Amino acid sequence: MKNIGFIGLGHMGAPMAKNLLAAGFAVRVFDIVPEVVAPLVAGGAIAVDSVAAATQDADVVFTMLQTGEQVRNVCLGEQGIFANAKKSLLYIDCSSIDITVAHELHAYAHEKNIAMLDAPVSGGVSSAAAGTLTIMVGGRAADFQRAQNLFEKLGKKIIHAGAPGNGQAAKICNNLILGISMLAVSEGFSLAEKLGLDAKVFFDISNNASGQCWAMTNYCPVPGILPHAPASHDYQPGFTSHMMLKDLKLAQTAAASVNAAAPMGTQAAALYTQFINQGNAGVDFSGIIKLFQ
Ligand code: NAD
Repeated sequence: MKNIGFIGLGHMGAPMAKNLLAAGFAVRVFDIVPEVVAPLVAGGAIAVDSVAAATQDADVVFTMLQTGEQVRNVCLGEQGIFANAKKSLLYIDCSSIDITVAHELHAYAHEKNIAMLDAPVSGGVSSAAAGTLTIMVGGRAADFQRAQNLFEKLGKKIIHAGAPGNGQAAKICNNLILGISMLAVSEGFSLAEKLGLDAKVFFDISNNASGQCWAMTNYCPVPGILPHAPASHDYQPGFTSHMMLKDLKLAQTAAASVNAAAPMGTQAAALYTQFINQGNAGVDFSGIIKLFQ
């Protein structure tokens, strides 16, 4: 597998495509926003002007888009991935999207003899840049094996979650935990401050005590604690609040589909909606701490 098409060069897609380039693959890149393409071209990528052009002759096509609707649009139709795929194409969707759309696209791909994996990622922009993402993969075991040499360039923990759609199921449940735990960390740090604790001192305590979690250790929402965290850069994303609400809504839909109780997720979605309605859709999701201050 030499020729890769990469569609969607945003916060996550750009550094992922860059790592594939650095590993020696030929990468054709496409995004509807031309400005995000130029830095990749400077790094050796070939810019193309359509989904079809990124797909024709590609051995593997990646998508890293925001929503299921966007992924469906680039897959289907005359100009889409499936209509322009060569026979042996392996299609890998790394976006975080609805399980139902993932199932629908797996079915279309299967009909056309295209191998497909749903392979959403976790770790954020810094892990995407470092090639240390966690990648959770749904699809056939043989296709998962076929993608190993690519996943190894993008992530450090690559797990086959099982059948088609299971990668998205894992991602949705993971981000449900993340959305809730970011709120818990925000609530805890805000209360600590009001109780007179120094934020750095409290970080030192809780980060080494039972309150420790990823949202705190790697993404603390208090400015000045972690130099790389969005909180220390005026909450520039990162991972926007809009995207976090998208994932919390995906969790609600998934929970309803199997009659599962998800009351914390419901509350988290309500708080993110409130935050976004105050004009914060594009603010990093860790900015939710402002609701408590
Ligand atoms: P983003 O908005 O930064 O990037 C998406 C890119 O897709 C944009 O550049 C956009 O122009 C492009 N795009 C949209 N429609 C297109 C089309 N039809 N053809 C070509 N390009 C198109 O989003 P992101 O933060 O990179 O997130 C991408 C996905 O990864 C989302 O599903 C998100 O939930 C998930 N994710 C994000 C993070 C994070 O920290 N940002 C972490 C893990 C997972």
